[in-house]
Amino acid sequence: MNLDSFSYVVVGSGLLGSVVAERIATQLDRRVLVIEKRDHIGGNCYSEEDPSTGIECHRYGTHIFHTSNEQVWKYINRFVTFNAYRHQVLTSYKDKMYQFPINLETINSFYNLNLKPYQLDEFMSTVRDRSIAHPANFEEQALSLLGQELYEAFFKHYTFKQWQIDPKELPASVFNRLPFRKNYVENYFFDQWQGIPEGGYTQLFTRLLADKNITVLLNTDYFAIRDRLKKDCCLIYSGPIDRFFDYQFGKLAWRTLRFEKEILPVEDYQGNAVINYPEPAVPYTRIHEPRHLHPERNYTREKTVIFKEYSLPDDGNDPFYPIASASNNLLLSSYKKLAEQLSGTFISGRLGDYKYYDMDQTIQRALEIFELSILPKKDLYHG
Ligand code: UDP
Repeated sequence: MNLDSFSYVVVGSGLLGSVVAERIATQLDRRVLVIEKRDHIGGNCYSEEDPSTGIECHRYGTHIFHTSNEQVWKYINRFVTFNAYRHQVLTSYKDKMYQFPINLETINSFYNLNLKPYQLDEFMSTVRDRSIAHPANFEEQALSLLGQELYEAFFKHYTFKQWQIDPKELPASVFNRLPFRKNYVENYFFDQWQGIPEGGYTQLFTRLLADKNITVLLNTDYFAIRDRLKKDCCLIYSGPIDRFFDYQFGKLAWRTLRFEKEILPVEDYQGNAVINYPEPAVPYTRIHEPRHLHPERNYTREKTVIFKEYSLPDDGNDPFYPIASASNNLLLSSYKKLAEQLSGTFISGRLGDYKYYDMDQTIQRALEIFELSILPKKDLYHG
């Protein structure tokens, strides 16, 4: 294939890359080359049918789409229909199940109480650590809101298992991803719009990348072919930012996940899509049971599939989570300065921005890059 005939090149076919490619192909009517290292499109959102059960499985962990951003919701609904799934999580502590994130039921059950919503603030003020006026990290934020006992039970060891660093080194913003509910509402997300694409995530990516102007190259490492691309092409890169600059200032730290799959001879193993395991003695962080993500489908009643999730360090080859510690953020700012000096190259997405984005935030970034940076310069690129 004549790679240097493309004026627009997208590296990575996750949400960032696929949305930008779709915009360029359909709004500018220009040809786009999408380069993907893996043997499939969709990045970590990728889903596939398990051949022995027919159950739609998320290969890289359960992904629930949720947003309150109307522009993003309208955009994505042009490609797929979402089901009515609402995410709920339970956490298993000392052989007992608790609702999670923490709500009134969790507090009542943990302390063996029967508090009413209007009594909760007063009770929490007796357990939370009131000496922390300005929480500066994950641990301080958790202690100042929940106190030692709840922090130790549900957060401290889980967070250590997931990130393998002291929760004091993580920013408070990671803790703030989770709500604290003063009522019995069990929904994991507050967002106005939620669900899973009825046809699975891969259908979404197939449709995003369906335009005749888009060429997808799977199993292709951008760094192995970049010399063959058009020198002055418009490049949208959604891989790790440190890799783009040949790690010249050093490597950013990442976490990755490993999943152990089991097929079990029961209809329903755990009664919920995700159960967390916050105790240090259990080596995995969560168990996923994907049959629950599609209540609208009629799956087999004879077996089910589960995935045990383990978190481990990553060398940059299969990164999932950026670790927003102070030292990583410092390194990131050096790479960001280099990125700002480039013209016609845009580095973004969870890996490119080194940010713990949710799916809707990534789509928002992709739409912004297209509208603010690519569209106004369209006359610079031909081919
Ligand atoms: N967390 C925890 N206990 C749990 C679930 C989450 O301590 O049972 C912490 C953990 O540090 C995690 C953060 O809260 O990284 C945010 O959780 P979220 O569910 O957003 O993580 P994700 O689903 O993105 O892995």
